[in-house]
Amino acid sequence: MENTGKTLSSESMLSYEEALEELLANVPKPKPIQVPLREALGRVLAAPVVADLDLPPFRKSFVDGFAVRSQDAGQAPVKLEVVGIIAAGDSNQPLIGTGQAAQIMTGAPVPPGADAVQMVEKTRQESESEVELLEPVGLGENVAAKGSEVQFGETVLTQGRVVGSAEAGVLATFGRAEVEIYAAPRIAVIPTGGELVEVDQKPKFGQIRNSNAYALWAQCRQLGVEATVFPPVPDEPDLVRRSVREGLHYDLAIFTGGVSMGEYDYVPQVLAEEGVTVFFHKAAIKPGKPILVGRKNDHMIFGLPGNPVSAFVTFELFVRPAVRRWMGFKRHSLRKVSGELVTDATQKPGRKFFKQAMTVWVEDRFKVRPIETRGSADLVAFSSANSLLILESDVAHLKAGQQVEVLLFDHDSDGRQGE
Ligand code: AMP
Ligand code: MG
Repeated sequence: MENTGKTLSSESMLSYEEALEELLANVPKPKPIQVPLREALGRVLAAPVVADLDLPPFRKSFVDGFAVRSQDAGQAPVKLEVVGIIAAGDSNQPLIGTGQAAQIMTGAPVPPGADAVQMVEKTRQESESEVELLEPVGLGENVAAKGSEVQFGETVLTQGRVVGSAEAGVLATFGRAEVEIYAAPRIAVIPTGGELVEVDQKPKFGQIRNSNAYALWAQCRQLGVEATVFPPVPDEPDLVRRSVREGLHYDLAIFTGGVSMGEYDYVPQVLAEEGVTVFFHKAAIKPGKPILVGRKNDHMIFGLPGNPVSAFVTFELFVRPAVRRWMGFKRHSLRKVSGELVTDATQKPGRKFFKQAMTVWVEDRFKVRPIETRGSADLVAFSSANSLLILESDVAHLKAGQQVEVLLFDHDSDGRQGE
């Protein structure tokens, strides 16, 4: 067992694991909704999908060729009378008697009397009414029996399955124009800070552009949720209060900025006044220590630090798992893999450190290269990271060559060096 943040930190902060557990225990239960098939991609099935028909629904030819009686075909080479032609989609079903055959296309129903199909490559047709089978074909060959793949009533996709491309095809096969999936939370991204100006503005002295709203919106989008982005909220209690009230109309509101111990950090106080139960404010992590998570009824509130790297990382560490659990995913946290550290990494012990890193598969293993930054607000350096190297809170130094653990970001990997 790992040491907990409680024993390591003087401020009785929750450890990352404790904080995450507390958070996940408080995510409202996934709610089923119906959506059109195309909107189900990437989402989790809220109910099993049961076959509404046999597959194939009729005896079906696997090949283009001639439907025959295998007894006749056993005597090949043999000439047979052609009594019809059956295309895929045709419903005509000539009865095939002894010495007879019907020309048939891939996917067409095999007519009664026939019990095999000889592929066209092994036949020679001299006239419309006669075909010569050049080789024998055995009973059932090139014929898919009705229900041989799936039988009516069978479960073809279980509840909890994530709808990928193949699942989309399966849903279509069984007529699911509407699909029952788990709802996504409606999310508001609410940047706070008197210094923030919009992206199309040239910041005046003391101002900075509101980058967090865009990064957080993008992170939500990568989870399959289109978040509503609020304009920046100045650090004034009444305006923060109004934004909290508006944020509580959403399932999940993500504030950034204003959650630390500064004179103008009003978010925690206003949340408390508005009846939000705060599960934790601060966790023994780096970056992102001031993180706040709370809930009012079925509405979840996140207060992420304003520092762009902290906001990004705490989204991945806390908001992502909450959103994914809300949407019914079983795997809610980032994928953790082990790899070989390429250069030394150090920290001042005390909090669990999630250090930005580039993790690349080289030959037979992941190689992990920590990315150096010019300070913890350096989102530009951070943007070349695809993972977070974990330094436990009691670890000061990791040496090159050592096995380490990293959390891989799910997204954004294309176009990055080495991938
Ligand atoms: P705070 O958490 O409000 O104390 O902010 C910490 C740092 O993050 C400050 O340097 C802020 O200017 C910066 N910051 C806060 N909000 C944003 C934002 N939306 N976009 C970019 N930087 C921000
Ligand atoms: Mg601020």
